Amino acid sequence: MVGLCAIVLYQSRTDALERTRETSRNVALVAERDIVRNFELYDLSLQAVVEGLRQQEVMNLPGHLRRDVLFDRAATAKYLESLLVLDAAGNIVIDSNSETPRKANFSAHRFFTIQREDANAGLYISDPFRFPLGKGVTSIALSRRISNPDGSFAGIAVIAVNLHYFRDLLAGLSLGAHGSASVISRDGIMIMRQPYDVRIIGRDIKKASTYRRFITETEGSFADTASIDNVRRLYTFKNLPHLPMIMMVAVAEQDIYAAWRQRALTIGSLMVVLALGFVALSAVLSNQLRRRMRAESELQLLARTDGLTGLNNRRTFGEILELEWRRARRARNVFSLLFVDIDRFKAYNDTYGHQAGDEALAAVARCIGESIRRPGDTAARYGGEEFVVLLPNTPSSGASFIAEKIRSAICNLSIQHAGSEYGLVTASIGTASWDPASGNDVTDLMKAADEALYHAKAMGRNIVSPAGCPAAAARPYARRHAAGAAH
Ligand code: GH3
Ligand code: MG
Ligand code: MG
Repeated sequence: MVGLCAIVLYQSRTDALERTRETSRNVALVAERDIVRNFELYDLSLQAVVEGLRQQEVMNLPGHLRRDVLFDRAATAKYLESLLVLDAAGNIVIDSNSETPRKANFSAHRFFTIQREDANAGLYISDPFRFPLGKGVTSIALSRRISNPDGSFAGIAVIAVNLHYFRDLLAGLSLGAHGSASVISRDGIMIMRQPYDVRIIGRDIKKASTYRRFITETEGSFADTASIDNVRRLYTFKNLPHLPMIMMVAVAEQDIYAAWRQRALTIGSLMVVLALGFVALSAVLSNQLRRRMRAESELQLLARTDGLTGLNNRRTFGEILELEWRRARRARNVFSLLFVDIDRFKAYNDTYGHQAGDEALAAVARCIGESIRRPGDTAARYGGEEFVVLLPNTPSSGASFIAEKIRSAICNLSIQHAGSEYGLVTASIGTASWDPASGNDVTDLMKAADEALYHAKAMGRNIVSPAGCPAAAARPYARRHAAGAAH
């Protein structure tokens, strides 16, 4: 989720940059068209003056008429400061602003000298300079040469264009709070810049890293930090066709990404909250799951064991017996079963109460549990006061040994039992073993163990009786023990 969010945010950042690049290109294009069209008109006016001066009829006209013929209505255009005709010495001979030409000499200006020195200079556009006539506003000059019929220098026609033209043009562009737009002469002089600062006009920016980029390609865009105000911007520039000027539009990166940053912050913090919520929820859920699993395993244990004695219950015993039986049959191993039944337990309950009966049962169960040690040996409560012990890999001799161990351990608990002929809680045990050669199955084995137990009971209780063992064989043992117990 976080990765996806990061990708989307990164893409929308790239989109913002791309959109700005597009907008800047359009803004630059609109400004470019305006400049090119206006300068084309100015040049046409200049060319009309140069043409008119060649015609003798025009030159023969009286001064005011000649002015009207030479300077069409263009001379009254908003940003056109003056349209002048200068003689070969640089003095004004025809002046658009005054019937009698104002007194001024322009022979030192580059727009004059270049036309004097080069017959093929064509249209020349100057750097910004303070126009010495009228209000003395900063202007740029457009000049064209006037030649005598023999080709020698006769003077120039010059138009001074007020820099307010550029200022108003750039001011109308929307470039964001920290954006800037500039018109720069191709030789690195700042003609106009927005935001406007009078000190920047005419400044030489040849050394700026941005300028070097402007002159290497005709148009393009790149990111850089401005030398003028140290703001990082996306620059889009274009060298104007047929004019020695570069139009540049720059949008500050902080403006480009402002909206994006706001969105990234909102989405990012939402994402963090979501992720944290997710983590917290996961933690709660995993905790719940763990508790549930623990409860389930406890339940499972409860379902498998007998509540009073802690031994396996009858159902579990059934499963284990089935498993061991199949294993023994496959491996052809012997295994044995013991049926343990507490003697005269009804009488015990009647005498000592049910509570005492439960305690005695638990004590006997403990005895049984402690008497079996091998890992495969299993004891279970079969029902009431009956227990069963399963001894895998154990022949009848081993079974008798364990049974005897259990019987004597129960005796040794020395729990008083007035209703018993032995005066103590005792148990009778029937044992039976499965022999792979016998062909018997597990039901036969159970029956045999049960019968052995019946024998043990019949022979006087507190006796271990192997299956099929003559009851008489068990008797002396029981008697001997009974005597010992009575002692
Ligand atoms: P025998 O020597 O022939 O086995 O006589 P017995 O009294 O032990 O046998 P009987 O089957 O007649 O009685 C079993 C008694 O075991 C019945 C009941 O009072 C008692 N008993 C069975 N289960 C429980 C138990 O969970 N708690 C208690 N306190 N007594 C139980
Ligand atoms: Mg019983
Ligand atoms: Mg009993």
